[in-house]
Amino acid sequence: MGGLRLKVFPELRHLSSDGVSNILLDVNSCRIFEAEDALLEVLLVMDDPSPDWARLRLQYGDQHIDECLSFARNLVDSGTLVRDEQLHHMKEHVNRDIAVTSLTLNIAHTCQLRCRYCFANTGNYGLDDGISLMSFDTAKQAIDILNQLRGNQKAQIVFFGGEPLLNWEVLERSVGYAEATFAGPDRKPNVSFCITTNGLALIQSQARFFKEHPFSVILSIDGDRDTHNKLRPCKTDDVDSWAGTIAAFQILTGEGITPRARVTVTSSNTNLVQALHDLGELGFGSINMQPVHTPADKSLTLSHDDLLVYESHVSTMMRSRPLVFADGRRLVARIGDGDMGIWFCAVATGSLTVSPSGELYPCHRLMGIPRFRIGNVHDDGILKALDARETLDVDKSLVCTRCWAKYLCRGGCYAENYNATGKLQMPDPFRCHLTKHIIGRALECYLFSRRDAANTGGDK
Ligand code: SF4
Ligand code: SF4
Repeated sequence: MGGLRLKVFPELRHLSSDGVSNILLDVNSCRIFEAEDALLEVLLVMDDPSPDWARLRLQYGDQHIDECLSFARNLVDSGTLVRDEQLHHMKEHVNRDIAVTSLTLNIAHTCQLRCRYCFANTGNYGLDDGISLMSFDTAKQAIDILNQLRGNQKAQIVFFGGEPLLNWEVLERSVGYAEATFAGPDRKPNVSFCITTNGLALIQSQARFFKEHPFSVILSIDGDRDTHNKLRPCKTDDVDSWAGTIAAFQILTGEGITPRARVTVTSSNTNLVQALHDLGELGFGSINMQPVHTPADKSLTLSHDDLLVYESHVSTMMRSRPLVFADGRRLVARIGDGDMGIWFCAVATGSLTVSPSGELYPCHRLMGIPRFRIGNVHDDGILKALDARETLDVDKSLVCTRCWAKYLCRGGCYAENYNATGKLQMPDPFRCHLTKHIIGRALECYLFSRRDAANTGGDK
């Protein structure tokens, strides 16, 4: 029988509502609490087989300890604080309801750029099957598989590459087919779309198409012109790739779409504060920054010193522009909502990525690794069970299950873990360090905003 799991943050005590209470995280519910000293001590020992009540009663008085004990028991009985055994029941319930809802169509394994860090071998993921553009027939088969597996849940289709705009006709037809296939009883399409693009090939009618359908658009951009062009040069030397991406940004915003930015952080662009400022000034409202992994150009790998710089920039960004820095904002929202989770991404519950020739993998970053091949949409459909909910539960990782941040972090990207450690469930130590830092800053940010709201009479 398991008990409570509480993580205390003495360093955040000054951010409590009275400036002296203890701040604690209930690891199992991901909720943040404040507790004065006696209540904290009671919470920490109440599952202890032989708590030292005599000392506590002497120190705080019988009546106060009894009040704290009653309050603490209420928190547990009402499910506000969650014990391990309660969590076990909750997990069983969650497990039953999930279908495969995510499909990534790698419609083009070709690209105009030769990004120095590209993990996809400048577009083809090392898959030398000679097919670089997906046919509509392949896309259609993949959409049909998704339709069989999604139950009646809403699906998401991601267009990825390479550069997906280089296969526009298939993208356009796939959207039409998916909307018709997934239409609900009210005839509304039960599907949304996402595209990650460098934007170079974008024209106005395509931006309008994105506006007319439920699309979110992510533009890959690494900061200012100089930085971006060094990291993401065109295969044609005299083309300014940054200018092409900015032109796409302007076309998109002109059509009423606010794209998100995706920055890849390498050893040569660790000035994240500057990048966030530059991209924010350009008008990006949400900027996602991700450290490079296994870059083709090894000199771009982040060193330990780079990691420390990265983390100090995260601290600054979380203080200055927490709403624009998407990675931090997502965690602040999770903390505010007590949004605990046990899987990092849809790979655990079942997701599909399809290569141009129809090869099926759970994720684009695991594509091309034979042991992760699931099948082919044309030959055998899905060979292996997609369901990895049991094995990829964060508590199945011997490292993560002992971590206070586990249900906020959820174990890290499985592909990054695999590339770093050879195991999907064994965290990448570099990323783990960074994640804990960002979660710590997100906690701080959440407490700041809660205190500000209380001071101005807003929501508590
Ligand atoms: S990856 Fe690291 S931070 Fe995330 S749950 Fe595992 S041990 Fe914790
Ligand atoms: S394993 Fe990583 S790269 Fe793959 S879908 Fe999940 S988060 Fe994305």
